[in-house]
Amino acid sequence: MNILSTELIHHPYQAPEGFESPVTPVYKGSTVIFKNVAAMRQRDWRSRNGYTYGLHGTPTTFTLEERLSSLEGGRHCVLFPSGLAALANVALALLKAGDEVLLPDNVYGPNKALAEHELAHWGISHQYYDPLNPADLAARLSSKTRLVWLEAPGSVTMEFPDLLGLVQVCREFEAASPILALDNTWGAGLAFKPFALGLSSGLGSSPPTLLGVDISVHALTKYPSGGGDVLMGSAVTCDEALHLRLKATHMRMGWGVGANDCETILRSLPSMALRYEAQDASARQLAQWLGAQKDVVQVLHPALPGSPGYAHWKALCEGEGEGVGGLAAGLFSVLLDPAWHPAQVDAFCDALKLFKIGYSWGGPISLVMPYDLKGMRLLPSTALKPGHLVRFSVGLERPADLQADLAQALAHSERLASL
Ligand SMILES: *Cc1c(COP(=O)(O)O)cnc(C)c1O
Repeated sequence: MNILSTELIHHPYQAPEGFESPVTPVYKGSTVIFKNVAAMRQRDWRSRNGYTYGLHGTPTTFTLEERLSSLEGGRHCVLFPSGLAALANVALALLKAGDEVLLPDNVYGPNKALAEHELAHWGISHQYYDPLNPADLAARLSSKTRLVWLEAPGSVTMEFPDLLGLVQVCREFEAASPILALDNTWGAGLAFKPFALGLSSGLGSSPPTLLGVDISVHALTKYPSGGGDVLMGSAVTCDEALHLRLKATHMRMGWGVGANDCETILRSLPSMALRYEAQDASARQLAQWLGAQKDVVQVLHPALPGSPGYAHWKALCEGEGEGVGGLAAGLFSVLLDPAWHPAQVDAFCDALKLFKIGYSWGGPISLVMPYDLKGMRLLPSTALKPGHLVRFSVGLERPADLQADLAQALAHSERLASL
């Protein structure tokens, strides 16, 4: 053993006091040293009043959790190594054999796959409901329903549901009180407040109550990261007992997040609202422009009139609520002329130069992705016109440059049709 080993570890240098940077330090650690055995025995891994083991929290993770709770208007937060891990943890923590989970037909695809594979293997059933029809959800609720997923808007096809109406039918269901979990990646805590969606209509003589979801899950991979460089997820709650259930499963599954990744997100959070607004403005401009092109049969952008669920977006995101300012994420889809050959759709995506072909969104680089809806939806949608779906995630480039890119790629694909 090198004679310096101990000296290197127990070095007398101490960081000077008085370095009062507002930046959260990157605290790394699996092991946390206890002063003595009594201190070790007193420490509760569930409490934020002390530290037990790196997986259960560090000053860096606790700081990020606090900020995300504030962002979403909740009180407690658990971090996960990806958005999908956060979604899976909610199901694992809350469901047992014999239970049923309800998911919107346009739910984030991998959440569907989890229900159809692991959950089904463990004796947990699932059903898909029509997100644009609260009565359809109401008809599917039963005493077996333990968990209802909500997503606003739905993945890829972007239909904006009547979130308040969906929450209300679940709260009024008397045979069971399912837990309501929202995938709030699109809203990001900025477009609307998931724990304060609005007032119930106060049926009969009962006074109106404030309605909200029980759990808000957020893929921090998207806007909070903002760089397309970090994978992380969070689950925010207001109720402490529910938080502790999520946290217990988080502990038993061994989900951990890296301190440097937390720091990256902590560094990006202060600019998130600005980025979100800029990406929203560009996306609306481009979606409107695309809507006027002859090859585009429908634009799917919840904040544009004519898109499925536009009235619901308007009611929720332009409502009276505090901190609600008519925002939408920089994400939209279009349906291209069904007469186009599928090879023309691929050629359109390939011809784009600034829009790169890739999954995810929320980063500085604009992205494009063609989707084949066949097999992605179980229920027939009357809201969508026939056509080839292409989704765009708008980054932070100059909108005029993005529009020119779209124009040259459309012209290129049209030329292919005439060959
Ligand atoms: C990206 C995304 C997720 C999953 O996040 P990852 O960090 O990529 O696992 C979940 N839900 C929605 C709506 C997403 O867009």
